[in-house]
Amino acid sequence: MTVTDDATAIAGDMARLRRAIHAEPEIGLDLPLTQQKVLAALDGLPLEVTTGAALSSVTAVLRGTRNSGGPVVLLRGDMDALPVTERTGLDFASKLDGAMHACGHDLHTAMLAGAARLLSARRDELAGSVVFMFQPGEEGYAGARYMIEEGVLDAAGERAAAAYALHVASAQLPCGVFSTRPGPMMAAAEVLDVTVHGHGGHGSQPHHAADPIPVACEIVMALQAMVTRKFDIFDPVVITVGSFHAGTTDNVIPDSAHFLATVRSFSPASREQVRDAALRVVRNIASAHGLSATAEFTNSYPVTVNDQAEAQFAADVVAGVLGERRYVGQTNPQAGAEDFSYVLEQVPGAFVMLGACAPGADPATAPFNHSADAVFDDAVLSDGAALYAELALRRLAR
Ligand SMILES: [Zn+2]
Ligand SMILES: [Zn+2]
Repeated sequence: MTVTDDATAIAGDMARLRRAIHAEPEIGLDLPLTQQKVLAALDGLPLEVTTGAALSSVTAVLRGTRNSGGPVVLLRGDMDALPVTERTGLDFASKLDGAMHACGHDLHTAMLAGAARLLSARRDELAGSVVFMFQPGEEGYAGARYMIEEGVLDAAGERAAAAYALHVASAQLPCGVFSTRPGPMMAAAEVLDVTVHGHGGHGSQPHHAADPIPVACEIVMALQAMVTRKFDIFDPVVITVGSFHAGTTDNVIPDSAHFLATVRSFSPASREQVRDAALRVVRNIASAHGLSATAEFTNSYPVTVNDQAEAQFAADVVAGVLGERRYVGQTNPQAGAEDFSYVLEQVPGAFVMLGACAPGADPATAPFNHSADAVFDDAVLSDGAALYAELALRRLAR
């Protein structure tokens, strides 16, 4: 029996777990119902299980018996849902208004629990240890960072030598096709929060006031000029001001103007550069007009950077286990962001996408992750679990 045969044999259990999690989605760092379901799925396996303090994470360690002094591989599955009201009409759709597993993390949880079962049955083939990282709070809560602070990277007693995460996509990739790339895989994302401080007054006598509105407008335009003049077009940066607010009526100059921008970058170097350059533009344009500005970056996720060798290894494992046709290289990084980036800052590894487009849907036009209409096919669960397991088995045997 191969690992994929074993995975097929437990596909029904994984689908039941996935659907149970899907029906009761939880958002953020505290996912008590999801945590319970994971603990129940792992019950009876030869794992050392601990739960988080600051968040409802589950960390499980499996010690292989083939080489007890062998290295450690970390496998990560995130577990949280999004504040979206589901519109799919599936019979296991979310029972909760305003919460939906629209990013497919319910599948990641079920696949990782499946991999824990597959590997537990093959302990004697495992030349080292495996850390299973069941993570809350990926969607903007930096759950991975909290789990790192609580020691997940060293959970087996030494630092993990490699780390892998799978992520399903409801569109863009054909169902069952895996994809990754060496180097930058996902963008860094952060919020630039700016307030221009002026001094209010009568709209007919602006010279007696310090009007923050034209200054804030000038900053918005200067940020766009900065993007085109300061950054390599082959290492791009995106700045979008998505919120801009000031004033109450036509003839009153307000005291301040406030805007929020999302800032995306695709290499640690350009991320560093855009953070410095944007703050300089904001502060100095305000100061040129005799006003001041406060600006800060919040809600940051770093660039998700795949290790060259580990990304190639993951591609080879897909081809070796499932066949060449099940892998396509990803040309460009994606502009979305991932907090698995925090893991990859400290441990070489790879973040791998898995097409999970609904049966009959066209991957080019199907609703994408985060849509209220996004549908993910259960059929990928067995291959996803098998790939997690094979990544660990083969990486430890290397
Ligand atoms: Zn997402
Ligand atoms: Zn996600």
